Amino acid sequence: METIIFATKNKGKIKEINAILADMNVNVISMEDAGIDIDVVEDGTTFEENAMKKAVQIMEVSGKITLSDDSGLEIDYMDKAPGVYSARFMGEDTPYPERFKAIFEKLDGVPEEKRTARFASCIAAAFPDGRRLTSYDTVEGIIGYEAKGENGFGYDPIFFVPEKGRYMAELSPEEKNEISHRGKALRKMKEILKKEL
Ligand code: IMP
Repeated sequence: METIIFATKNKGKIKEINAILADMNVNVISMEDAGIDIDVVEDGTTFEENAMKKAVQIMEVSGKITLSDDSGLEIDYMDKAPGVYSARFMGEDTPYPERFKAIFEKLDGVPEEKRTARFASCIAAAFPDGRRLTSYDTVEGIIGYEAKGENGFGYDPIFFVPEKGRYMAELSPEEKNEISHRGKALRKMKEILKKEL
């Protein structure tokens, strides 16, 4: 069985990817499980750059195939902000309700058809033999007029998903995984790994 490292400190993401890769002969472990504790500076200008930088750095330390992801929210009316700065938008420690308020103010009076947005996710894979692979996907939505729902995290409460008729934070984890940027990009990465392993 191949051990693959997922360059994250988020246990939820490890669970998510292990569930998706369950029928493959791989075991995905976290950086912590691999005994690695380094902070990779995410200073790229694209999700792909950040994801690949993380994957390569952790692969170089671990010597094992390493996956990594980078994701964020793009609001079209705000020139695709916060984008790669989603985690740091208005400051890393700023509570999300405050960020929501600022976004609603920026979109004040903006009609629904111009409130389009998407979550985007890039998954990168770095192999010790030099192979570098990425997958990318998005989920399209609309920035709502209020925050709704208790599930998920980050910007989920203000992201209305037309295909579900509900806000992202109103979806169960299973429903979210089915349609989410990360879920879709992870399933694309699975197809890539099936060919490469
Ligand atoms: P990360 O690259 O997955 O750590 O995501 C960076 C930031 O993008 C997060 O801190 C959130 O602010 C935002 N984000 C990414 N994915 C999601 C999601 O599925 N829901 C809500 N916010 C997200």
